[in-house]
Amino acid sequence: MNSKSYTLDDVGEVVVVKHYQARRITIKLKAGEPPKVVIPKLMPFDMGFRFAVEKHDWIATHLQQINADANRLVYNEEQPFSSRLHTVRFVRCNTRCVQAVRAEGGFEMRFPMDTDFGSIRVQRQIGAFLTEMLRHEAKHYLPDRVAQLASAHGFSYNQLTVKNVHTRWGSCSAQNNINLNIHLMRLPEYLSDFVILHELCHTVHKNHGPRFHALLDSLVGGNEKRLDKELNKYKIRL
Ligand SMILES: [Zn+2]
Repeated sequence: MNSKSYTLDDVGEVVVVKHYQARRITIKLKAGEPPKVVIPKLMPFDMGFRFAVEKHDWIATHLQQINADANRLVYNEEQPFSSRLHTVRFVRCNTRCVQAVRAEGGFEMRFPMDTDFGSIRVQRQIGAFLTEMLRHEAKHYLPDRVAQLASAHGFSYNQLTVKNVHTRWGSCSAQNNINLNIHLMRLPEYLSDFVILHELCHTVHKNHGPRFHALLDSLVGGNEKRLDKELNKYKIRL
């Protein structure tokens, strides 16, 4: 036996896990999961649980915080999600399992009647579907759009890759390979174009020096600063 479950007041289930590489006791917290106390292989399980009892306040506070963060963006029935090309509505109906079907203007994601939209599991299911939808849209739309903007302004680039990353909208390598984020599909088209133009300018200037900004600014009618500010209002991740 490698793990043992205990119950901790106000927290619920706590799992003590033996790990052969562990040198000391550590506590691992993850949204929607019971806290895990990792202990060295030769330590008795009860000692791990006693450690959790000692750290009770810390565990309770942090777990609540982590779960609240995970629920920060709550998808629900009242609020459809819109990308640039599709709207997704979340509805309850007589279905046994979650399914997404084509509907007017986009998709309908159908859930069983007793679905708890506040649960992390449901939020993750929705997040996963939306991510796939954005990926699909991005692969369909971005290659053509980049080609159009490049030819309109006389840029050339190597390869275009579409990715789901949390840190940036786009990047351009030394070899002029451009990476663009699927989340560009959540932006209005002029902001997505602004990101594409930014990366295309990097095919000419590799840094963010004055010549880079002068070029980009000239392509967006002198609005680089304003567009940058607008872009910063959008979170990259869902
Ligand atoms: Zn840049």
